Amino acid sequence: MARRPFRLGRSLTGLGLFATRPIKKRSRIAEYKGPLLDVKKAEKAERSGNRYLYEVNARWTIDGKARSNIARYFNHSCNPNAESYSVGRRVFVRTLRNIKPGEELTYDYGIDYLRNVIGKSRCKCSRCRKRRARRARELRLVRKRREARAASKRKKARASHGR
Ligand SMILES: [Zn+2]
Repeated sequence: MARRPFRLGRSLTGLGLFATRPIKKRSRIAEYKGPLLDVKKAEKAERSGNRYLYEVNARWTIDGKARSNIARYFNHSCNPNAESYSVGRRVFVRTLRNIKPGEELTYDYGIDYLRNVIGKSRCKCSRCRKRRARRARELRLVRKRREARAASKRKKARASHGR
């Protein structure tokens, strides 16, 4: 891996990683680094609130909490442009498509993380924000239609009283 093609920056959820130059599809861009924990140690770390545990397989988990582990700053997205994958007990991140400079690099943390840690209704990835915005727009429309219907009913009622 040459110099990192991304930088740490402000994202919607705190910090995130942003491309600093075009990156080709399927480029390996980072390794998720940290000590390997066995199941017992991983459970203990989880109980103590460590949010940077990457379960490599049923036996091993990487403790990625050290700030030197740049890969801990990838944010989750339900519509990611990168993915994590393991080779033996090592974990890497690669792009899923061509990336433009300035784009935030994200991967999908998986359904367990989304359910248990983020909470599905609180996900701030661009897809979920768009989905929620669309839902809010739809609800506004429904309300408007309902109000319009109620108003026209009142009008009709007034009209019939007038007769
Ligand atoms: Zn999401």
